[in-house]
Amino acid sequence: MLGAQESRGEPDWVKVPKGEWLECTYERCGHQWQYFGGRSWAECPVCHTTVKVSAGRRSYRSSSQRESFRHLQ
Ligand SMILES: [Zn+2]
Repeated sequence: MLGAQESRGEPDWVKVPKGEWLECTYERCGHQWQYFGGRSWAECPVCHTTVKVSAGRRSYRSSSQRESFRHLQ
């Protein structure tokens, strides 16, 4: 399922062979962790919010982009 779409011009740190990086979607938390469960839902290890994996992945990516933009300024 993670195929061609994933390997399109991504920086090296995005390429994770197993598991995937998620960011807690609870705004006040925003914890980032690598999830290996392979299910649709993951529990944040910090605040125990249940995060949908697809949403957490999207959140992680968008916040990583924000950080790199901030880094450039
Ligand atoms: Zn959290």
